[in-house]
Amino acid sequence: MNQTINPLGTSAKPPVTPKDAAAMILLRDPADPKVFWVKRAKTLAFMANYHAFPGGQRDAADAEVPIANAENIPDAVMRVTAIREIFEETGVLIARGVENLPAERRAAMRHEFHSDQIPFKDLLKREGLTLDANLLIEAPRWVTPATSPRRYNTRFFAAWLPEGQEAEVIPGELETGEWLRPKEALQKWIDGDCVIVTPIFCAIQALAEGVEDFTERMLGVSQEERDHLERRVQFRYGVYLCPLRTPTIPPATHTNCYLVGGDEMVVIDPGSPYPDQQAVLDYVVARFIAQGKRFREILITHLHPDHIGGVTHLAEKFNLPVAAHRLTAEAINGEVRVDRFIEDGEVIELSEAATGPAARLTWRLRAMWTPGHARGHLSFYEERTGSLLTGDCVVGFGTVVIAPPEGDMNDYLASLRRYLELPRLTALMPGHGPVVADARGRIEEYIAHRHDRETQIVSAVASGARAIPQIVKAVYTDVPEAMHHLAELSVLAHLEKLVGEGRVARTANEFRLI
Ligand SMILES: [Zn+2]
Repeated sequence: MNQTINPLGTSAKPPVTPKDAAAMILLRDPADPKVFWVKRAKTLAFMANYHAFPGGQRDAADAEVPIANAENIPDAVMRVTAIREIFEETGVLIARGVENLPAERRAAMRHEFHSDQIPFKDLLKREGLTLDANLLIEAPRWVTPATSPRRYNTRFFAAWLPEGQEAEVIPGELETGEWLRPKEALQKWIDGDCVIVTPIFCAIQALAEGVEDFTERMLGVSQEERDHLERRVQFRYGVYLCPLRTPTIPPATHTNCYLVGGDEMVVIDPGSPYPDQQAVLDYVVARFIAQGKRFREILITHLHPDHIGGVTHLAEKFNLPVAAHRLTAEAINGEVRVDRFIEDGEVIELSEAATGPAARLTWRLRAMWTPGHARGHLSFYEERTGSLLTGDCVVGFGTVVIAPPEGDMNDYLASLRRYLELPRLTALMPGHGPVVADARGRIEEYIAHRHDRETQIVSAVASGARAIPQIVKAVYTDVPEAMHHLAELSVLAHLEKLVGEGRVARTANEFRLI
């Protein structure tokens, strides 16, 4: 373990305890099967704009609802959670006796339930409905990976839409709901039109191969395969995320390492210096090689220790060359050997997939030189799916440190604006934190945030704050004091920009408005 390479190096935070949840794979039309999925709202703190199946957390009251034929109490409760959630989110009611209720009655019940007028248990009783575990088909359970800020232990179930019912999403937490053939859902994902997580992908893929016994086929997947699936999340077809613990800057605890391609792949930012984490990545790479894939090279987004800490290990282990921007290569010379330079605009074409759900597709990673966080910072834009690997230019939570002299606020804002000029932008794959499905929204938010900070800094200087620590005190009231040394660097970056624009004058360590 090397805890000294970054002064902010932190030890691992224990993973969050997963909360119980249930989700429902709702199907209709057995002759031409379709599955129902929802798009989560942009405003949600977790998995915003992701596609998912309806579902949610267990409620304490779920334990009070009787259900026939469940195996045991925990099983009974999770089935009730699934049935309650699908009713809340789509209006679909899966219960014995529901065929006797007209649609208006069910709609009225949903409204009553939504407005907290009556508990679910009483509602069912009043209408003469009973729940039955046999109405649900068992599907695999998934636990959110340990690196996620929020975690769920989710029981998945499948069910056929009861006759005469329709699924309807009321806009709020969910933006839309849609019935589609499993193959169409898979194609949307391959084309980059949606962001989904592993359980949804596994279900869609199994359904696309045939609805008959699909849950049994899913339940039959070996633990070894599941372990592999959980260590690298395929948010996009051929774009795998493997988060590895690194000595990074809080609130981040991990750096996202990406593996991209089909038969031919690249690894981006194997950043962990820790042997246990390097072993995880070795395992993932080795398993891909065992499946017949070939790794071409390692790409580095930028020079920071939490992005290069595992490069030498991986390069030596699998005999891979390393590529980076010239400025990065110069900065890490003597630490990491860089075999070739990547220029702005270079397209790294990764050969097609010979097998899999979309054979004969090619991945085209266009390198973008995006300085600002670091001088030699590269981002990679996957042209076919509109996926942007942002390195540390945009991250999954919080903002980015712009620390002079490596950092430059003018360059940083220009890099963000360049992102917005990309023809199609469907998801951001950041260097830290979760994948961002509201890509443009997040970039615009980042630009607005910097603009707000600049305005606050100008007004702090105008009201007499002259030195950087004073300005930080006045402006960064929302940031814990332990982080103020980083805030000081960000303020310096803003001030350097303002000096460059002729709006602020600097004498020694004092700043004033012009
Ligand atoms: Zn960085």
